[in-house]
Amino acid sequence: MFDFESRELAFWDHALSRSFGRVIEPRRRKPIGQLVRSMLGCRTRDEVALHAYHRLGRRWPKARDLARASPAEVEREIRAVTFAEAKAEHLPAALGRIEADFPGFRLDRLAAWPVEAARAALERYPGVGQKVAASTLNASTLRRPIFIVDSHVHRVMIRFGTVSDNATARAASELVTISGHALGADGMFQLFRNMKRLGQTICRFEAPDCSTCPLASRCRTAGKRSI
Ligand code: SF4
Repeated sequence: MFDFESRELAFWDHALSRSFGRVIEPRRRKPIGQLVRSMLGCRTRDEVALHAYHRLGRRWPKARDLARASPAEVEREIRAVTFAEAKAEHLPAALGRIEADFPGFRLDRLAAWPVEAARAALERYPGVGQKVAASTLNASTLRRPIFIVDSHVHRVMIRFGTVSDNATARAASELVTISGHALGADGMFQLFRNMKRLGQTICRFEAPDCSTCPLASRCRTAGKRSI
């Protein structure tokens, strides 16, 4: 890990908000809906995942019905997303187990749990990794203070020097979750959305455009490399 303090977070937040503005708060989904949306979104463009989410919602408006759907049926509805076959296996399986553990899909019970315990509880379900769990907790109506790290945010944090090259996305998430408690849940969500946007538009996987990056003045790899 590189030295990292909450003032770095304040710098990111300020610089990114100045460039991209404040994110318009979306209508938050219930935790079970956000979990499904996030599972569909792994390695998939937002608009494609959202389209698949709406298809699922039209076919199975209730989570309990999706939990009883066959993977083949689910795959037909979500075939445009990346790893559709695996996601079609995982979605009903995960929902079935969540229904058993949280009758009525009442994941809002997680509001009272320590945040890392809540993340660990969600990660027990098929297809639910650290990012899906964090998204379920932070971006839903639960509004828990946990930082979401997807592949874009992970890449930016490594290039910037916040974490080492081999640091996992989980380690990056835990670092900001702990250091950024002053941001609160909504501030962490704003920061995630703006860092993701930076990764999608400027600090891109193929080649970062450091000359236009609002974080360049403090980035350890500005203009030097692509990793
Ligand atoms: S300066 Fe370049 S490498 Fe650093 S975060 Fe910005 S785009 Fe990425």
